[in-house]
Amino acid sequence: MDASLRSFVVERSGGHCEYCQIPQRFFTELFQIEHIVARQHRGMTIESNLAIACSRCNLHKGPNLAGIDPLSEGLVRLFNPRIDIWSEHFRQELSGEIVGKSAIGPTTAYVLDMNEPRRVGLRAEIIVLGEHA
Ligand SMILES: [Zn+2]
Repeated sequence: MDASLRSFVVERSGGHCEYCQIPQRFFTELFQIEHIVARQHRGMTIESNLAIACSRCNLHKGPNLAGIDPLSEGLVRLFNPRIDIWSEHFRQELSGEIVGKSAIGPTTAYVLDMNEPRRVGLRAEIIVLGEHA
């Protein structure tokens, strides 16, 4: 990936994970550039298929494109930061928990393990600091 594409994707993210919204500035390790549609599914290394993800979101998402909706138990595609608006699918509670607002929201939150207790705790601390993105 060339440096200009990398810079564009990083700047477009606004400095936070495009899945769980945790700001980069609270981490020493750089967030990763993630293929929304993984290369193994013929996803290309182009602006419209790339997103910034924290290491935990990236690790849990892996090559997944969909998951099982915890409510309906139907197959639901995952949140796509390039075509979906975060606030239409998720909201963040003051507790730091991320709650789904659509079938895509809770399915993505589950697959990416967004509500792992340490992550919820970190988001709660960030909220207290008034610095959440
Ligand atoms: Zn994340």
